[in-house]
Amino acid sequence: MKILSVNAGSSSLKFQAYEMPEEKVLMKGVFERIGIDNSFYTIKINGEKIKKEATLRNHEDAVRILAQELINYNVVKDLNEIEGVGHRIVHGGDKYANSVIIDDDVLKTVEELSDLAPLHNPANLVGIRAFMKEIPNAKQVGCFDTAFHQTIDEERYLYAVPYEWYEKYGIRKYGFHGMSHKYVSNRVREILDEKYCNIIVCHLGNGGSISAVRDGKCVDTTMGFTPNAGIVMGSRSGDIDYSIIPYMMKKTGKSIEEIDTILNKQSGMLGISGISSDFRDIEAKISEKDQKAIMAHYLFVNSVVSYIAKYYVELGGVDAIAFTAGVGENSPHVRNMVIKRLACLGVKLDKEKNEEMRFGKEGIITKESSSIPCYVIPTDEEVMIAKDTYNIVK
Ligand code: AMP
Repeated sequence: MKILSVNAGSSSLKFQAYEMPEEKVLMKGVFERIGIDNSFYTIKINGEKIKKEATLRNHEDAVRILAQELINYNVVKDLNEIEGVGHRIVHGGDKYANSVIIDDDVLKTVEELSDLAPLHNPANLVGIRAFMKEIPNAKQVGCFDTAFHQTIDEERYLYAVPYEWYEKYGIRKYGFHGMSHKYVSNRVREILDEKYCNIIVCHLGNGGSISAVRDGKCVDTTMGFTPNAGIVMGSRSGDIDYSIIPYMMKKTGKSIEEIDTILNKQSGMLGISGISSDFRDIEAKISEKDQKAIMAHYLFVNSVVSYIAKYYVELGGVDAIAFTAGVGENSPHVRNMVIKRLACLGVKLDKEKNEEMRFGKEGIITKESSSIPCYVIPTDEEVMIAKDTYNIVK
């Protein structure tokens, strides 16, 4: 069965075409600068990368071209061969604990939830509507970033604020990066050959979150009502004392929107180091003994380790820890710093394996004598979307 996995942003559209259930990638690519000048798209097929310029006034233009290219490159002879299109949707609120077929009700709910994800849900909707129009016979499936975290129980998703805020305004922890946490935790369960186990997944990318997973179900996660909660991130602060916000508004005369932007875009690793939100730039400065770069790494590692420790206790022990996403997959330096701090739990890093495991490699990075095995698992949200879509469509 042929399935498309789609991630629509406000000016971009990423896609992968799969043969399922084999999980074979037939073609993938990205449309960029949609609705802006100089728009273009790139396609990868049979190991070849093709870049083309195109007028992309809107997402419909992009999907129309994509449909044509699927035929041009013989991925399909007829668009009816595409039986399902899986869409990444950032916010499903507390309505969806699983991926679902998109009908009018789902569209309405995703629209209503735009308040909670103003940058993402509207863009996701534009993408969905474009596919509904261009590939109408395919089932459209919504795969929510929040869904995997819907198994978190009330005592962990509530904030200690008036209960009415939860009832009236939906103030609670939702959690994000769900497709990644689901993929990685399932992959670790396959590797351990164990359905019933406790896993901590560290998704360390530009945005970062950690989740505690028991028997494949999420028990807790670090992101909250919004993605700006939990660990220190590339440019987001993660957890802070909320009182800083009114205090800084008074001290600087900045508006709530300006402070919000600073906490989302100028904080985290960028804010502390003053160098960049990109871990590679900061690591390069560490080798020059830049004190702020070193400090930023300590803050980051502290926040990661403190959540691992918290989840170790919440889960009542852990069978495996997994590192994923840009930093988790590619930075032996960060993994080394984190795992060294777990020595008190009996975790023992294998330095050679840790150095080897990068650029898409999957494997163990701890010694056999380690109390908890740690793995690097390259995340694959696209295949997770394709799997969910296939399972629903079939
Ligand atoms: P993501 O959001 O998952 O795409 O991850 C992006 C982050 O991964 C950026 O901060 C990059 O600096 C970081 N990253 C990518 N490659 C490396 C690398 N080789 N070493 C350290 N950090 C990396």
